[in-house]
Amino acid sequence: MDTMQKYVFAFEEGDGKNKKLLGGKGANLCEMTQIGLNVPPGFVITTEACLAYLDDPQRHLPPGLMDQVRDQMRLLEQKTGKGFGDPDNPLLVSVRSGSAISMPGMMDTILNLGLNSDTLQGVIQATGDPRFAYDSYRRFIQLFGKVALGVADTLFDEAFEAVKESAHAKQDVDLSADDLRQVCDRFLQIVEEQTGRPFPCDPYEQLEIAIKAVFNSWMGKRAVDYRKQFNITPDMANGTAVNVVTMVFGNRGNDSATGVGFTRNPATGENKLYGEYLVNAQGEDVVAGIRTPKPLDYLRVEMPELADQLEELRNKLEAHYREVQDFEFTIERGRLYCLQTRNGKMNTVALVRTSVEMEREGLITKEQALLRIPPESLEQMLFPRLDPNAKAEPVAQGLAASPGAASGIAVFDADRAEQLGKGQGLKVILVREETKPEDIHGFFASVGILTSRGGKTSHAAVVARGMGKPCVAGAEGISVDVERREARVGLTSFKEGDVITIDGTTGKVYLGEIPTVEPEFTPELNTLLGWADELSRLRVKANADTPDDARRARRYGAVGIGLARTERMFNAVDRLPIVIEMIVAETAEQRRAALDRLLPMQRQDFYELFEVMSPHPVTIRLLDPPIHEFLPDEHVLERELKELRALAQVAGGLGVLANAASLIHAPEGVRLEVERAHRMIDPAVVEEAIAKKAAMLKKVRALYETNPMLGHRGVRLGMTFPEIYQMQIRAILEAAAECAKAGIEVHPQIMVPQVCTVQELRKVKQYVADIHAEVQARYGKPVDFKFGTMIEVVRACMRADSLAEEAEFFSFGTNDLTQATFSFSREDAENKFLPLYNQSGLLQDNPFEVLDVKGVGKLMKLAVEWGRSVKPDLEVGICGEHGGHPRSIAFCHEVGLNYVSCSAPRVPVARLAAAHAALKAQATHNL
Ligand code: ADP
Ligand code: MG
Ligand code: MG
Repeated sequence: MDTMQKYVFAFEEGDGKNKKLLGGKGANLCEMTQIGLNVPPGFVITTEACLAYLDDPQRHLPPGLMDQVRDQMRLLEQKTGKGFGDPDNPLLVSVRSGSAISMPGMMDTILNLGLNSDTLQGVIQATGDPRFAYDSYRRFIQLFGKVALGVADTLFDEAFEAVKESAHAKQDVDLSADDLRQVCDRFLQIVEEQTGRPFPCDPYEQLEIAIKAVFNSWMGKRAVDYRKQFNITPDMANGTAVNVVTMVFGNRGNDSATGVGFTRNPATGENKLYGEYLVNAQGEDVVAGIRTPKPLDYLRVEMPELADQLEELRNKLEAHYREVQDFEFTIERGRLYCLQTRNGKMNTVALVRTSVEMEREGLITKEQALLRIPPESLEQMLFPRLDPNAKAEPVAQGLAASPGAASGIAVFDADRAEQLGKGQGLKVILVREETKPEDIHGFFASVGILTSRGGKTSHAAVVARGMGKPCVAGAEGISVDVERREARVGLTSFKEGDVITIDGTTGKVYLGEIPTVEPEFTPELNTLLGWADELSRLRVKANADTPDDARRARRYGAVGIGLARTERMFNAVDRLPIVIEMIVAETAEQRRAALDRLLPMQRQDFYELFEVMSPHPVTIRLLDPPIHEFLPDEHVLERELKELRALAQVAGGLGVLANAASLIHAPEGVRLEVERAHRMIDPAVVEEAIAKKAAMLKKVRALYETNPMLGHRGVRLGMTFPEIYQMQIRAILEAAAECAKAGIEVHPQIMVPQVCTVQELRKVKQYVADIHAEVQARYGKPVDFKFGTMIEVVRACMRADSLAEEAEFFSFGTNDLTQATFSFSREDAENKFLPLYNQSGLLQDNPFEVLDVKGVGKLMKLAVEWGRSVKPDLEVGICGEHGGHPRSIAFCHEVGLNYVSCSAPRVPVARLAAAHAALKAQATHNL
């Protein structure tokens, strides 16, 4: 049968790169053998054999497999000088599973296979150590019984305990050879009772049963669940390989040991061997926690020569794999063996440090250093984290809405947050059912935000992310009672002033204070991101509304502001009353008067942003939200009006009383009292307040919109209230002129939101041209600026060519564009049906988190093409939340955008993602 498929590969011949065929463990055992590391002789049975076996309804091993196994066993016998089943000098092996993707703890390994009553004697003779022999035997019977024959583990454990008890042994190591012999006998009996057959003694029968057991374990519940849990699909790993490896014994005395090592410290990245070992122990003992292992540093004291050998092994592994390795080793009577290696899992700090250091050591290139690190993981490095050593039970679970952890006292409204946070300098956490734009001052004063409602794109989440503050949103287990200033969670509650801790990275909420660890923006990260900038084509700008945001964005490496939202500036405490005045104005004159007061404030805002960002460009979006968002709530107004009217009645009553008192010659005292009360509640003042509130209520009702997001907002405001846009344009250009005067280099970009027709754009452009001419004339200096538009409605995409005639730049507002493309209202979608859509595969991702490349992306692609067909040097960017998402960034690179803009904390992620995008595009191009 020379056409027979080859199912078995000796470690000397297997292809170390073929993990799909040989499994990760097997491929690396082959590779290590072939580069000359000391691996015990062995062979791999392929995953193809596994699949063929599982395919057969009779569950027969594929024809020829056992013949190939026997051939390999004979080779092992030659290499070791031992015989499989030879009572005089027995060869023992381990049978180990291993698929393409490591699934820790999913399938068990059988050690010491080949033992039976005859070979046992051989081991005793060869080692002169009956205790060791019986100990190995009882381990084998139990593992084989459990893994291969399906005997319940508890039966063995109970029997073991019984022997221990009768021998008065406290620990396993206290058992004598005789005790262990008893254990073996009892174990053999148990197997026979449970399976109805004697324990298989023939080594080849043992081997065949063990191979089948490993194959079967691939379809076992544990493994199937694990694959489901971690989304391991058949194209990633299909079937398990079986590794048969000559046993080496770390339990042969005090010159023997077993251990695990990392070539570098996986927690810090330090370039130093890291790990643990146990003297006189077998494989599983290190992880099983039976004895406390010693740190590898100590090996230098106990076995200096082996410490040298281990150091050499570490260097060889790294030089070959060019990646930090996590490896297993065993020392048998002073000889070092390597039993396994794989790429080490590290935290981000370690990943970044090792990347930079390995590049410097010449182990990897800059490109490889960058590609080793998942961009998303960098976020971990920029936020305070809960101390991993702190043990605490969360009381509620919400959505991880904005990463980072914070502790502070709970407060239940924004004003209180401001009083206690800003006023008294306390650390406060703002706890609300949900937040609104008018809560903004509370955000500024808080170290974190917790809401019991709303999704990852709720107001609280978006604003908190923008500010880089931790936020847990939609923690539905918490019910907030604002009136009583307390919140109930299950059976407990917390009140204003009680300390709570939130973790916006996990969405968990805790009572009390939990220590946090500060973020580390290490020098290595700076180096790495510097390389990223060199290799990427996309620039990374930031969404920043305040000088503080802008400063942080610069620290993180942003090269400009891609979106400054002016409405955030309108919400500041000293501005809001003027803004309201401007909105409720009845005449253009009144409106202008209010705007005249806002102008210097906005000018100052822009001046500061320009100054912080100089010489990088700053893109300012003209006012976008519907203006009624700045007005008080209708229901609050109604209630206040009712209260005022009640007061007016009292005042009226008092007035009558005062008159009557003076007429009927009441005693002086009574008359004075009544008059005083009347004066205190001055009816005129009350009337005036009523008139004001009523006017406001009328205005609020007049401005009411059924669909505010599709209503009177964006450039539409600029059309109906030109004074507002003109004031903002003036503030921008005057601030730029002031900067120029002060010698600060500025590049303002004026951006118009919600544009759908070129006429709208032309009209705003005319405002700009007029004001620009005037400002330049007045300052006697040229003022540089760019004029452009957001692309966030479908019609703007369709009319991109004509918009490009008027715009020097486009910026995709993909939050709105996604809503517009799907016709999903974001809040409703995320709270109601999107989770189901995602779970049931109606939609693969949440399009508000992951840019919908197929739909929204197609519109973007067309808009870029059409825009550049008119204006080849049109600058195009993105400023939606997607601008900080690696997969979306890759798409932005593909369609030729010039920049992405995202919140400051995402800037490092985006810089790395932009480099990944460029490198991957290059790789596909080279194929
Ligand atoms: P896992 O995938 O769970 O780590 P392994 O197959 O690596 O399982 O084996 C479990 C333990 O047994 C490990 O500590 C390993 O080093 C040890 N081991 C496996 N094969 C041998 C062998 N041939 N000689 C000595 N120890 C072994
Ligand atoms: Mg294990
Ligand atoms: Mg292992």
